[in-house]
Amino acid sequence: MMTATTVTRFAPSPTGALHVGNLRTAILCWLWARRQGGRFLLRIDDTDAARSEERFVEAIRADLGWLGLAPDGEERQSAHLAAYEARFDVLRASGRLYACYETPAELDLRRKVLLGRGLPPVYDRAALKLTQADHDRFAEQGIAPHWRFRLEHGAAIEWDDRIRGAQRFDPATMSDPVVRRADGSWLYLLPSVIDDIDMRVTDVVRGEDHVSNTAAQVQMFEALGAVPPAFAHAALLTGAEGKLSKRLGSLGVEHFRAAGIEPQTIVALLARIGTSDPVEPFVDPAPLVEAFDFGRFGRAPAHFDEEELAGLNAKIVHQLDYEAVRERLPEGMARPAWEAVRPNLTKVADAGDWWRVIEGPIEAVAIAEEDRGYLREAAALAGGIDWAGDPWHALTGALKDATGRKGRALFLPLRLALTGQPHGPDMANLLPLIARQEAVRRLEAAGG
Ligand code: GLU
Repeated sequence: MMTATTVTRFAPSPTGALHVGNLRTAILCWLWARRQGGRFLLRIDDTDAARSEERFVEAIRADLGWLGLAPDGEERQSAHLAAYEARFDVLRASGRLYACYETPAELDLRRKVLLGRGLPPVYDRAALKLTQADHDRFAEQGIAPHWRFRLEHGAAIEWDDRIRGAQRFDPATMSDPVVRRADGSWLYLLPSVIDDIDMRVTDVVRGEDHVSNTAAQVQMFEALGAVPPAFAHAALLTGAEGKLSKRLGSLGVEHFRAAGIEPQTIVALLARIGTSDPVEPFVDPAPLVEAFDFGRFGRAPAHFDEEELAGLNAKIVHQLDYEAVRERLPEGMARPAWEAVRPNLTKVADAGDWWRVIEGPIEAVAIAEEDRGYLREAAALAGGIDWAGDPWHALTGALKDATGRKGRALFLPLRLALTGQPHGPDMANLLPLIARQEAVRRLEAAGG
């Protein structure tokens, strides 16, 4: 049997910057397409001409590029208006679209009346009862209709969601959705279905806020003679406060970049949160692709935790190769310096702080009185050590013999004098990077 190539699409509206929820949807679409050896499309949902902006289109592309989620193709809804028009005619002719004239205020009033009676606020289909004469009258008054999709009542709408399992909706409890405004512009629902058909999308992966849209869209696919694609609706993300926060909505690539978060960190976390698989610091996404399985996703909201992200980021940074970061390092900072300081970083930008420690000058630190003589002795010994070998072990070995000091008393004053800090990278890796003359100078200065 021929199976269709998997095609997923990430379909943002370019009305703002992508936030963490969008990034997660993009990552899931990408992972599933890669897992299946299929195609991952970027579809720009720009039917809302008033709110769509080119700078957001560019930002969306840049964000995907930064995350390493290169799309296999890009589509724009504004380029497919003719296809929407053609399907509009088809659905209108088959009686699945009908013209309505209610104003928002009228609809609002009707909803309130229903709610007041304890009834679900479902559109009453009053417009279906309009006669040709009624329509003519509206036309004469220059009132253009908006259009609703007539849901077929009767059989339940069902699909087997890749994440949520068996889904079942009674169309009689749903309002016929408005698909086109009186000015001719499109709402999201129908163009999305038409594109999914035309672009041969096999898997619609998106957030669970779209589940009720899916119910209506399943009927739209069928009304257009198409088999609906598979659907996977991921549970939403929650922030620290345990609910969908404004903060999450404002967190995008710009914020993460500024915070020193690596793209791999975002991918590694967002690929796994809300699943039963552990979050692991993968620098290369191959294992994420390999193990990707919608069956691992839970139904509970996934908790997005910036602290977890920062912790994961440190583990990613500790693995980054010099070549991957060299452009972001200070001038002159070469591989040995990167490798020496890398284990102590939580973000790449902090490498600069250690580079200053290596290059000097460092800030003077308070040295205990009883350590001063010890440091003067260290300065004297350092002058005679082979700096090209392993100066740290040579120096501490000689000092141990000469003074009988060991452990903390042996090491800490040296670290303080040489780096100006009580903690930091392994001194065995750091000391060879500090020029001998400079090291001697620091030890002498601290020995006072
Ligand atoms: N433009 C829609 C959105 O951003 C697309 C939803 C979908 O994936 O179908 O919510």
